[in-house]
Amino acid sequence: MAPDLRIPTDLLPADGRFGSGPSKIRPEQVAALSAAGRSLLGTSHRQRPVRALVGHIKESLTSLLGLPDGYEIVLGLGGSSAFWDVTTCCLVDHRSAHGVFGEFGAKLAAAIARAPFLAEPSIAQAEPGAVVVPGPVDDADVYAWPHNETSTGVMAPVRRDPRYGDALVVVDATSAAGALPVDMSQADVYYFAPQKVLASDGGLWFAAASPAAVERAARIEASGRWVPDFLSFSAAVTNSRQDQTLNTPAIGTLVLLAEQLDWILGNGGLDWAAQRSATSAGHLYSWAQSRDWATPFVVDEAARSTVVGTVDLLPPVEAATVTAVLRANGVVDTEPYRRLGRNQLRVGMYPAVDPDDVLALTACVDWVVEQLS
Ligand SMILES: *Cc1c(COP(=O)(O)O)cnc(C)c1O
Repeated sequence: MAPDLRIPTDLLPADGRFGSGPSKIRPEQVAALSAAGRSLLGTSHRQRPVRALVGHIKESLTSLLGLPDGYEIVLGLGGSSAFWDVTTCCLVDHRSAHGVFGEFGAKLAAAIARAPFLAEPSIAQAEPGAVVVPGPVDDADVYAWPHNETSTGVMAPVRRDPRYGDALVVVDATSAAGALPVDMSQADVYYFAPQKVLASDGGLWFAAASPAAVERAARIEASGRWVPDFLSFSAAVTNSRQDQTLNTPAIGTLVLLAEQLDWILGNGGLDWAAQRSATSAGHLYSWAQSRDWATPFVVDEAARSTVVGTVDLLPPVEAATVTAVLRANGVVDTEPYRRLGRNQLRVGMYPAVDPDDVLALTACVDWVVEQLS
């Protein structure tokens, strides 16, 4: 039970949503959804208006991520978790190599390890809070790791090791795409879902894909390997090129996403978004370093995520009590990743979050800790 503490209203953030996904959706996005309420919502996704919306989203993502010539945006249903199965079925030819440093990176490796038609993946592993990118592996044809490990608040470089040869670099950018700087020529597939950085709802996956990735999937799928239609990357490519999806998408999710992309691009694009998140992160980590009962979880400063911040609290301060009091005061989703099991706060600092609200959050935590001591 959380102690009954009322945080003074002048300390509270203007918006109390700090989730790492689903994340804060701005009121302007909800207004856009409402405006689409009698036009796009409840109309066919096979007709012009919704297809134009999908086309607009693809163009926005192409420009936001600065896609090299020949790369394309592919989308499908099922979120990033579904894309792990797409990777397993359509992108890994024989064997994959992984950088695993948290729950999400581990899940893709585990999915591939279960596939009866693939070799045991090669896994380079680091402790939670640290980072590792796979080194060259003789027979690997896919190298995979997360750009941002949402479970621990660790970010990794996106870099194609020349020794990877013509293997594909497949990066889980679910909590990174649109807020961490990236040179897309360094990856073949950069996949994500819209409920994190891009402030929409879950259920879709997007992948920025190189020609080599599209060719790889086409070759594997033509080779006789059984691939369910729903997990076919090539079917997704065919549909995406026509501004469609294999089956029915949530149109509201597309509307929210398009609005957020317009907002980010209108403010200056990826540089602006990355800077805004970095400002928030600067507030959070410098605060944590200046309290003797708190410390950033990630020791290596270069690996400290600027989009998902993790801060360990030191006994006798109990994070579970702090987050419960925050929640009772409307400041929500600062709990740590459930399976990490640390005495920790985790703070989503995607572009939708105002850096001033992160400052306000730290002031609220100070106040709560003061009251509890
Ligand atoms: C949230 C998350 C996922 C899972 O996304 P879903 O769309 O819920 O399947 C995968 N990878 C990372 C890095 C994530 O943060």
